Amino acid sequence: MKVIDKINNAQARNQVTFSFEYFPPRTEEGVENLFDRMDRMVALQPLFCDITCGAGGSTADLTLDIANKMQNRICVESMMHLTCTNMPVDKLDKVLDGMKANGIQNILALRGDPPHGQDKFVHVSGGFSCALDLVKHIRHHYGDYFGITVAGYPEAHPEVITSDKGATQEAYYKDLLYLKSKVDAGADVIITQLFYDTDLFLKFYNDCRKLGITCPIVPGIMPINNYKGFKRMTGFCKTKIPAEVTNALEPIKDDNKAVIAYGIQLGTEMCKKLLAHGIKHLHIYTLNLDKSAVGILQNLGIIDTSKVRRPLPAWRLPANINQ
Ligand code: FAD
Repeated sequence: MKVIDKINNAQARNQVTFSFEYFPPRTEEGVENLFDRMDRMVALQPLFCDITCGAGGSTADLTLDIANKMQNRICVESMMHLTCTNMPVDKLDKVLDGMKANGIQNILALRGDPPHGQDKFVHVSGGFSCALDLVKHIRHHYGDYFGITVAGYPEAHPEVITSDKGATQEAYYKDLLYLKSKVDAGADVIITQLFYDTDLFLKFYNDCRKLGITCPIVPGIMPINNYKGFKRMTGFCKTKIPAEVTNALEPIKDDNKAVIAYGIQLGTEMCKKLLAHGIKHLHIYTLNLDKSAVGILQNLGIIDTSKVRRPLPAWRLPANINQ
């Protein structure tokens, strides 16, 4: 079933829902461990789960293989990320045909980042240079078979952010218009890049609506569960870090348990605010870990904890953390 239909059905029932994102592990053992973890997490009834492609050097073939097992072995509605990086059209079509043959109906259509060691995205011969062209291609050649999701950037895409103050107004609106063109070309859901300033997401959400983007806009939530990883990701994505987050994290950065506990608390607060503003679906970047994602959902009271197959830790923020 398409994710858009699942989201619409849930919203018609006024139900708050969530989804989990995973990435392909590097080894076969890692892949099997991931399936064990997914199996436990799927018991919590995410609306769908998705698997990334290309990031960290993984291939579309591995992503397709994992998506196939997610859909047909773990039995969760699955979304496969598909990027244009190093993918001429005939290769893309092979993957799309493979998805169809395995009953995978959901794609996150992306341009992708430049290949490792390159600064700029350069399209391969016979390939696409942006997600818009991939969306158009899928709709033209595969009709309505696939539900298509695209990426949105609440702070604008990092390539158009040229100062530490963020994108200029002009670049931000150009980015929004481009996002609208992806939706107009046939995308039916937007999932956003990670953010830690919830007000920025809400502004982006309202700006999209004002521009006439009517499809679901799903916030991408990345729980902080490791200080170095958080710094690396937010540096790469040029994400704005609110001062209160920096102030809370810096004193505890060497204490990973405290960082995880803080990440759960922050993620919970962010999600509560989003829910209070009428956002009904939360997309969690799990980084293949369950504690933080499950901790947040548990705090929000939107999972049936009797379905958790191993006891959840009682998350407490250490008393010495100042916020
Ligand atoms: P596009 O939509 O093509 O565009 C990116 C930006 O380029 C636009 O925002 C705009 O500023 C500019 N642009 C491009 N074309 C035009 C145009 N015609 N007119 C005007 N402006 C234009 N990367 C991976 O490698 N693998 C993954 O699995 C993956 N998953 C992701 C999931 C999510 C939810 C998100 C938000 C990102 C993900 N990424 C992934 C990262 C993504 O590949 C990068 O951010 C990449 O640099 C851009 O991909 P895109 O699909 O947003 O590109």
